[in-house]
Amino acid sequence: MNIAVIGFGATGVSFFINLIHTINTDITKNFKQYKITIISRKHDFIGGIAFNSNNKEHIVNTPAYLMSCYENDSLHFVKWLKTKDIYTLFPPRHIFKEYLQEQFLIFLKKAKAIGIIINIIDDFATSLYKKDNSFYIGLKNNKTIIAKKVIYSAGHYQQSNILNNSIAFNTNIDVNTLLNKDNSVGILGSGLTTIDAVLSLQHINKISSINIFSRNGLLPSINLKDPKIDISVYKYFNKENISSAIKQNTFSFFTMLKLIYKELTHYNEHELKIAKKYFYTQDMINFYYEIIQLSEKNILPLNQILSSSRYYFKDLWQEMNLKQKLVFLDFARYFNIFRNTIPLENAKKILLLLQQKKLYIFKISNIVENNNQIEIMCNNNVYIYPNIITTYQDSFNILKKKSVLNESMLQNNLIELDDLGGIKVNKTYESHENLYILGDLLKSSFYVTNSFWFNSMVAKDIAQNIIARDNQQ
Ligand SMILES: Cc1cc2nc3c(=O)[nH]c(=O)nc-3n(C[C@H](O)[C@H](O)[C@H](O)COP(=O)(O)OP(=O)(O)OC[C@H]3O[C@@H](n4cnc5c(N)ncnc54)[C@H](O)[C@@H]3O)c2cc1C
Repeated sequence: MNIAVIGFGATGVSFFINLIHTINTDITKNFKQYKITIISRKHDFIGGIAFNSNNKEHIVNTPAYLMSCYENDSLHFVKWLKTKDIYTLFPPRHIFKEYLQEQFLIFLKKAKAIGIIINIIDDFATSLYKKDNSFYIGLKNNKTIIAKKVIYSAGHYQQSNILNNSIAFNTNIDVNTLLNKDNSVGILGSGLTTIDAVLSLQHINKISSINIFSRNGLLPSINLKDPKIDISVYKYFNKENISSAIKQNTFSFFTMLKLIYKELTHYNEHELKIAKKYFYTQDMINFYYEIIQLSEKNILPLNQILSSSRYYFKDLWQEMNLKQKLVFLDFARYFNIFRNTIPLENAKKILLLLQQKKLYIFKISNIVENNNQIEIMCNNNVYIYPNIITTYQDSFNILKKKSVLNESMLQNNLIELDDLGGIKVNKTYESHENLYILGDLLKSSFYVTNSFWFNSMVAKDIAQNIIARDNQQ
């Protein structure tokens, strides 16, 4: 059976490992019949968007104990780091790539040992259609790959068509194309990728300041100094209460906020209290300073509460109707500020840059493109840039992405849009029989797929489903 994997970021690797592991432990199969074709450009093979950076300051945002490749050995990555004597809770992301590469090579060897043919193609898939129960994948170099099953794991971070004069953040960005007349650089969006961009740009001497422009003018929250896996059941902000609010159709921004606030009454000091102090004045320096103090003491109850909800939020998301999802998404732009946390180590660097006036964050009131320039209005000032870095991802709607492959799949009825514009999948993650959607591309179906551990769980399910189904035939 020919299986093709389109896109080989962290999630593609996880699928490969799980597939070989499942085949390897299944004594009923004739291994030789499997052929796996991996389609990935050489430069982003294995690391994908998240883990390809060589910048040591780009550290993982999720603690190492949540980044094992193996579900039955959750501390595998931690142990791997310790064996190599390089353990830290938040290691550089390129180290995680090295870990993935090593695991990939182990499983590549295992695959070859049992006669599985592996074909790695350095190219980009541009079209997909199905004929006589086989998929035909068109590549940029005009070759065609034929497969019985396709894993579509191309990530969700293709640049959005939001502005003409914008460049999606990458580590090789040419700064000269970005400088305005005051030698400042502009970044649109204020999520985790923005922090990456700031950490990359901060050492470039010709930049006078880095200006972040965002809808809320807020920076991401900060993780605890020593976060633990949190499986605590909260008294108010728990699965049962949120689920019942969804079922009664009373779910709203305020329902969520009320539950969170009730929960926080157990603590003297918390982020919402701090945020309230600085939200209107947009005083990010003091906001960050105070949150860092909480994090240093390992007291960040709001973040703990929200992080723990990640474990069950995918189920709640499935229960919501479209209106509730839209209400939630509107709420989420504030909610995400607290939910997406950066490691304390990087937060301190951000605070220092703010204090040194090398970094600013502004709340946008309007943004327009004029005469091939970008004009951003904030606090009655106008900032003009020839080009701006965008880190903003319209996460859900695939029509807003520049992807010829998505267009081809839509045209050939291999994918269908869900209510939010993402790819619709069934319970086995298929958009069409034998076409599996995996990784960040599932974002609109589950909302929380931007973490390796979640994507890895789905990868395992898909691998097991493929082999189980194959065994039945
Ligand atoms: C800056 C950043 C930091 C992050 N940090 C963490 C973290 O610390 N911990 C964590 O758990 N998660 C983190 N994440 C989330 C992380 O992205 C996901 O956990 C996961 O890596 C997503 O993997 P993916 O394989 O779905 O997508 P991607 O990593 O985007 O990989 C998809 C790959 O497919 C390729 N591709 C796309 N289209 C095609 C095509 N047509 N043909 C061939 N190839 C194609 C892409 O170039 C890419 O290499 C981070 C995300 C970002 C953006």
